[in-house]
Amino acid sequence: MSYIGRFAPTPSGPLHLGSLIAALASFLDARHAQGRWLVRIEDIDPPRCPLGTTDTILHQLNAFGLVWDGPVRYQSERHVAYQAALERLIEQGLAYPCSCSRKEWRGYAIYPGWCRNGPLHPERPLAWRLRSDLGLRPVEWDDRRLGHQRFDPAALGDVVLKRKDDLWAYQLAVVVDDADQGVSDVVRGADLLDNTPWQRQLQNALQYPVPRYLHLPLVLGDNGQKLSKQNLAPALPTDEAGIRHTLHHALQRLGQQPPADMAHAHVVDQLEAAINAWHPEYLRHITTDTP
Ligand code: GLU
Repeated sequence: MSYIGRFAPTPSGPLHLGSLIAALASFLDARHAQGRWLVRIEDIDPPRCPLGTTDTILHQLNAFGLVWDGPVRYQSERHVAYQAALERLIEQGLAYPCSCSRKEWRGYAIYPGWCRNGPLHPERPLAWRLRSDLGLRPVEWDDRRLGHQRFDPAALGDVVLKRKDDLWAYQLAVVVDDADQGVSDVVRGADLLDNTPWQRQLQNALQYPVPRYLHLPLVLGDNGQKLSKQNLAPALPTDEAGIRHTLHHALQRLGQQPPADMAHAHVVDQLEAAINAWHPEYLRHITTDTP
């Protein structure tokens, strides 16, 4: 199988060290395999995506030497494909309209499936959910870092595919695009691990090929918290010296052992050396989130 990897940021804010590290790992894994590396902008939720953020992200990727193949894909342009996938699920009886609000099932760990046999309040705006209880086997995959993963569909709950406000849910969009773009390898942060069982269910239901998964260790900030936009991860540098130093640091955070004398080298030279020396198995030495 030829390798196709991707970095798929939600443009809700500029890249920070955590998202840069995810981009870098998927880039190195793809380039080491002499594969293609795609960038997909997951802009399905416009209220969460300030104008101009996509340009900032693409600019940041370029500045760090993370050059992608082919045109950038935008999920905001993919409505027709997502709708077609939803219709296939509806035809198979695997997706159903749901009128429940989060408040109504507050006391439950997962959505109890009240609308499975028809919406309780058809007059309300309707979301679409995936039935997790029909004809779907336990969800399993071998994660390249975390090993064998197995989930009972009954414990997952019926995930939302399309929201009441008509916006597409991440789970459906990501699965449709990974399949459409022929993605063979998903390399992304372990903060997304909880989503993978739903994505595996959807791949089974839509009869899509299953990519390999590598969930990266979480990147913690100096305060021991996960780096994210929400807890105000520091901005990435924009000056050349800062960029070179941060790239070196990002490689170290991935458990790679870039030679100390490369810390100030041009990003192109750092990346070339890192591609040749890429050892995903070194990620196992990073123990921040080992279950
Ligand atoms: N868009 C998601 C995010 O930025 C990542 C999607 C993925 O890698 O599967 O968190």
